[in-house]
Amino acid sequence: MNKAQENALRREMVTTCRKMNSTGINQGTAGNLSIRLDDDSFLITPSSLPYDIMQPDDIMKMWFDGTFEGKHRPSSEWRFHRDILRHREDMNVVLHCHSMYATTLAVHHKTIPSFHYMTGVAGGITIRCARYATFGTQALSDAAIEALDGRLACLLGQHGQISLGKSFASALWLAVEVETISRMYVQALTLGEPPILSDEEMARVIGQMQRMSYGQMPEADGSNDVARPKAAPKKAAAKKAAPAKKVAAVKKAAPAKKAAPARGAAPAKKPAGRKPAAKAARKRN
Ligand code: 13P
Ligand code: ZN
Repeated sequence: MNKAQENALRREMVTTCRKMNSTGINQGTAGNLSIRLDDDSFLITPSSLPYDIMQPDDIMKMWFDGTFEGKHRPSSEWRFHRDILRHREDMNVVLHCHSMYATTLAVHHKTIPSFHYMTGVAGGITIRCARYATFGTQALSDAAIEALDGRLACLLGQHGQISLGKSFASALWLAVEVETISRMYVQALTLGEPPILSDEEMARVIGQMQRMSYGQMPEADGSNDVARPKAAPKKAAAKKAAPAKKVAAVKKAAPAKKAAPARGAAPAKKPAGRKPAAKAARKRN
């Protein structure tokens, strides 16, 4: 990844953070966001810096070994951002927030059941709630990894929610969906525990969502069987697909992938002498 590409991601990150606030899923200095740069590093929001004053050069760069570079301290939740990016090579973005209704369910440690077919947007028949652990700890990261197994989102017990995406746009979209589903569930619970859709029906729903690429741009050639404009000009189609492609291109250019280490295992050490100037400036958090 060259500096111009990294700077573009920094700008996109600031825009996404501001959208986290304007969509109402985030407020104050709660919440954090990260995006994979390559197999060794990622960008992450600084800790406790309000998004309305945050600038692209306030964004922190971190390496998977826990070292960082930048003007501030990285988010206190860097461990779960790092561990999720390391374990979920299919995802590039981790978004965390304390959205009101998801957190309302999380304080009761409620897993969201298949009371509505849209529960399937998180990739499974439920949206799990991770057990409580203190913020910023490895225990919280371990709990989140467990709750996210086979899922794109989870609640965090007595804390908030995490949503994943291939791009900033898809992670933000999912976080807003999780909040909406949570709100519906809280509302539905006022009339008693609602009936749930069967596992068979949810399997059909999830299959249908995958077939229709829910939350993704249609392929211009129709290869993913999504309704699309009859004569989509090629240029416009290419432009629309740009955010997802950008990250994919970055990943392709990155060095060959290492096998993901087992959960909780220390990350492999980078060879000595790699990025010497940067290393001297980094500290541990
Ligand atoms: P940071 O400001 O350190 O990212 O913390 C916010 C938060 O939500 C902690 O869980
Ligand atoms: Zn939090």
